[in-house]
Amino acid sequence: MSALRELYQQVIIDHGRHPRNHGIVENATHSHHGYNPLCGDKLNLTINIQDEIIQDVKFIGSGCAISIASASLMTEILRGKKIDHVHELFQQVHQLLTGHCENPEQLGKLSVLSGVAEFPARVKCATLSWHTLNAALAQSDSPVSTE
Ligand code: ZN
Repeated sequence: MSALRELYQQVIIDHGRHPRNHGIVENATHSHHGYNPLCGDKLNLTINIQDEIIQDVKFIGSGCAISIASASLMTEILRGKKIDHVHELFQQVHQLLTGHCENPEQLGKLSVLSGVAEFPARVKCATLSWHTLNAALAQSDSPVSTE
């Protein structure tokens, strides 16, 4: 295993064990649930958006380390971001997770998830938080399921 890969793995394990922004945003303007039946990962995302900017975002999740780490990393990266920018970020993350990202470094911390591309069954674990985010932003009524 390369040193870089090992570092990535450590970051994922750390976020999986000690998720950042775990909890509920009290004054949430947007929220949604997500479920990945393939693995059993569950997620509840709450977000406070003011003036098109994500002020606060938290999640409560249960499931595998990849799903928790991905949600934890996502919440860290989203704070202070314009919602316009989220769609672009989602595209980049999707490319990263499917091994089609030209330069993962531009995704900063999220680049640690690049190793997931080698495990196609895990891609849905890692994208669950992002699908849930999209549904929350769209204020969709339908449940998010990766199936
Ligand atoms: Zn999972």
